Amino acid sequence: MSVERRGLMFVLSSPSGAGKTTLSRLLIEQMPGLKMSVSATTRPMRPGEVNGRDYLFVDPARFKEMVDRNELLEWATVFDNSYGTPRDPVEAALSAGQDVLFDIDWQGTQQLREKARADVVSVFILPPSAADLEKRLHTRAQDSDAIIRSRMSRATHELSHWAEYDYIVINHAVDDAFAEVQSILKAERLKRERRTGLTTFVRELQRQLGN
Ligand code: 5GP
Repeated sequence: MSVERRGLMFVLSSPSGAGKTTLSRLLIEQMPGLKMSVSATTRPMRPGEVNGRDYLFVDPARFKEMVDRNELLEWATVFDNSYGTPRDPVEAALSAGQDVLFDIDWQGTQQLREKARADVVSVFILPPSAADLEKRLHTRAQDSDAIIRSRMSRATHELSHWAEYDYIVINHAVDDAFAEVQSILKAERLKRERRTGLTTFVRELQRQLGN
């Protein structure tokens, strides 16, 4: 029997190239009850990306409107572009008892934590080495050399925020890292404070036991 619980906000952050996108995809595919938050961004679409699936691609004027109308739960500037989390889909999922997965940076994570500390579970993914990170950025080959260089230097800055996260996963091998992230989510789902239906459940147990 499943006990009712509050949905949680599961945040994955990492320097780009640490494998966070793959881990997010695997989580969505393999963990029922978890919904991806699709961010709005002003950055140009990359080859292979789909509007509405990977991001909502918007122009700066529309983004500003979303900020002004308080339509975003958090937002930040990353690599000269704006990124933000649309509020409505997140609130709808959480109130339907679903968990929401966020692929956002440390600035967005800080904002979510300020707004909903008890519901946020944050995981920082570390690459096993700088060489590995650079290799992944090159293999992805979607960005120019200049962008890759700026991402490498930004990675150093992003790394400095690791200690703000609840969990740290080092991505030596994607299967192992995925198993670790999955374990975190499974355990967090079982936390007593989130399981709002427990009091009723235990009361019923006690009644059955004749107390
Ligand atoms: P990319 O342009 O490579 O897709 O993403 C660049 C960075 O922006 C990543 O670190 C990603 O986690 C972050 N990001 C994506 N969407 C959001 C968002 O809605 N809010 C915040 N704060 N960061 C985001």
